[in-house]
Amino acid sequence: MTSLSDLPLRANLVGKSPYGAPQDPVAVSLNVNENTHPIPDEVAADITAALERAVRTANRYPDRDFVELRSALAGYLGHGLSSDQLWAANGSNEVLQQVLQAFGGPGRTLLSFTPTYSMYPLLADGTDTGWIDVPRPEGYRLTPEAVVAALAEHRPSLVVLCGPNNPTGTPLDREVILAAYDAFDGMLIVDEAYFEFDDERESAVTLLEGRPRLMVSRTMSKAFAFAGVRLGYLAADPAVIDALRLVRLPYHLSALTQAAATTAIKHSATMLATVADIRNERDRLGAALTALGYRVHDSGANFVLVGGFADPDGMFEALRARGILIRNLGIDGHLRITAGTEAETSAVIQAITELG
Ligand SMILES: *Cc1c(COP(=O)(O)O)cnc(C)c1O
Repeated sequence: MTSLSDLPLRANLVGKSPYGAPQDPVAVSLNVNENTHPIPDEVAADITAALERAVRTANRYPDRDFVELRSALAGYLGHGLSSDQLWAANGSNEVLQQVLQAFGGPGRTLLSFTPTYSMYPLLADGTDTGWIDVPRPEGYRLTPEAVVAALAEHRPSLVVLCGPNNPTGTPLDREVILAAYDAFDGMLIVDEAYFEFDDERESAVTLLEGRPRLMVSRTMSKAFAFAGVRLGYLAADPAVIDALRLVRLPYHLSALTQAAATTAIKHSATMLATVADIRNERDRLGAALTALGYRVHDSGANFVLVGGFADPDGMFEALRARGILIRNLGIDGHLRITAGTEAETSAVIQAITELG
C-alpha cells in the first residue's frame, strides 16, 4: 500500500489536511451555512426545462465566456455594472483560486484577519502563495486603524476581507474596506458570500468605480439556496477579468451550470424570499442562547458564533448523537450554528437547552 508520504508531494502541501466539514446524513444539518429551505417548485420546473434544452446541445462545448450568465449576474448586482465587469466559476472558492493563480504565486503573499474562512490558507497553499494570518481584535470587529497597521507591517500582495465574516458573523464596515484599499498597492478582495443576509450595509460593488485593485466576490451557495450547483462570481474592473481569463481552464463552466444559474437568477426574488425568515431565525437563535447565558457574537450572516461552552467538543458530539450537526471550529469555548427553518432552529435551541 502506498501512502501519501511515499509520494513526491510539493513541500508546502506536506502534512496538510483537505477541507472536510462532516457530511453526515442527519435530520438537522446546520454546519455549512447552507440555506436549508428547498428550491421553490416553480423555479425548479423552469430550471429543469432550461437543463433539458442545454442537454440537447451538450455535444458542443459551452459558451467559454458565458456571456448570458455574466449579463444576468450584472443585472442582479445592479449599480450600473456591465457584463465585462463580471466573472464566475464553480463556486466562489474557484473564483478565489483563480484570483490567487493570477495575482498570487511564489514570492507573493495573501493576508487576512483570523478567525476567518478556513479555505483562504488552503487556497494560498495550493497556489504557492504565502499566507499571513493577523489576529482580529477582541470581539472580532476590524477597525481602519488595525487594518492599516497590519498592511503597513506586512506589505502583502493580496488581502481578503470577509464581510460578514465566516465563522464569526462580524459585519464589515465600509471605512475598513476604503482604508485597506488605500493602505497598500496590491489586490483587495472583499468576500461577500453572506452579503444578502446583512440588511444594514451597502455592497462593496458600489466602491468599484475608480478602484481597479478591488474585487468583490459573491456566491449562489448561501442566500440563493443553490450550493449544489456550484456557482460563485466576482465583480471588478474589466482588466481584472482579463487577468482571470489567463488562468481559467477552457470551458470551465459547464453548459448545465450556465443554464441552471442563468435561470435561477431570473427568479432571484423568489429564490431570495426566505432570506428575511432566515434572518429572523438567526436572531431568535441568538436571543435564546443569550438567555441561556451563552455569548452570542453580533452576526450579519445566516449563522451565529456562540461562546461560553465549557466543553464544545462534548456539546458538538451530544448534538450529533441527536441528529443535529453544527460546526466545531476549534475556537476556544465556541461553536458555530447555521440558522435553519423554524423547525430546525427550534430543534437546536431545545437540544442545547436540555444538554446545557
Ligand atoms: C461558503 C463560503 C463561500 C462560498 O463558497 P462556494 O465555493 O461559492 O460554495 C465563500 N466564502 C466564504 C467566506 C464562505 O463562507
